[in-house]
Amino acid sequence: MFLDRLKNFKSYKTETTPCRVKLSSNENPYELPEWLKERISEEVKKIPFNRYPDPTSKELKEVIADFYGVKPENIVLGNGSDELIHLLITVVGEINKPVMYPVPTFPMYQVSADILGRPKIEFPLDSNFQLSKKEIDKAIEKNPQLAFFASPNNPTGNTFDKNLIKYTAENNIFTAVDEAYIDFSDKENFLIEALSSDRIVVLRTMSKIGLAGIRLGVLIAREDIAMEIDKARPPFNITYPTQVIGKVVLTEGREEIKKQIEKIISERKRVMNELEKIEKIKVYPSDANFFLIKVPDGDKVHKLLIQEGVLVRNMSHLPMMENCLRVSIGKPEENDFFLNAVKKVIKEI
Ligand SMILES: *Cc1c(COP(=O)(O)O)cnc(C)c1O
Repeated sequence: MFLDRLKNFKSYKTETTPCRVKLSSNENPYELPEWLKERISEEVKKIPFNRYPDPTSKELKEVIADFYGVKPENIVLGNGSDELIHLLITVVGEINKPVMYPVPTFPMYQVSADILGRPKIEFPLDSNFQLSKKEIDKAIEKNPQLAFFASPNNPTGNTFDKNLIKYTAENNIFTAVDEAYIDFSDKENFLIEALSSDRIVVLRTMSKIGLAGIRLGVLIAREDIAMEIDKARPPFNITYPTQVIGKVVLTEGREEIKKQIEKIISERKRVMNELEKIEKIKVYPSDANFFLIKVPDGDKVHKLLIQEGVLVRNMSHLPMMENCLRVSIGKPEENDFFLNAVKKVIKEI
């Protein structure tokens, strides 16, 4: 009875079938090098585990600020950007005024809004998965106070028109640009806008560039905006190990991470080129570390790929995503394994 509100609640679902090659969660396929793990061990050993961590993550923030070319005062840290999404939906505007976001997109906007009982305005992307001004205008008429735009978008992989995102902010809506995949893109980001506007913030995450395991998300905003939002952050949300590991990796491991990102981008080009040669597969453009394909029978191809030892994310059940699968970029040998499996499976179908 007390938990009735959760009766029909759909929690976040992820693909967990064990498989030889896992291309389902948009992770960085590369592990940290052994020398860097050694350095992490040395630093982790020094942690006083009986003590609370620094509630302000001062030193880690300085390192992250340098990494992104902003000031520590522009930053709010989250236990993953998932926590920052939840925080924004909690504090921005009035809780009974809607949150707007295009669909299909990252499911956490919906999940957090539902947990908090905040109304949602979900509006469709067009047939090329781009924003449509007409749909944005219709959404704005319903008086939302907060908007989310994942750009590059998950699961579609494309970047949205910058002007339409700005247009939403210009219409008096607090606008969060979720740049989880920006490290793999050569399109413009929203940092300059976020640093100067009272209603545009940027979300970044360490999850897609090699640190999904430590849970570290970053909100970047104008100093006064960041300071206000930070008041509502749970005080010890960034654990001692996360602070220590984040510092080591983003200083001593910075070049390594850059190299890994370059490899992922070049593999993306190679894999997508190979797939485009297959007649029965449609490949959508991508600025991310994954891409979307449309196949003759999504559920069946997904299942047969698992039998071949490859796990990709089945998107077939989502609106506008009929027969679509989302494929993360892996290491070259994993990508080759996937390409061979997909060729075999498509032939059988
Ligand atoms: C993966 C992803 C995130 C989640 O990031 P965490 O920092 O791991 O919580 C946020 N937004 C988008 C669009 C994502 O795809």
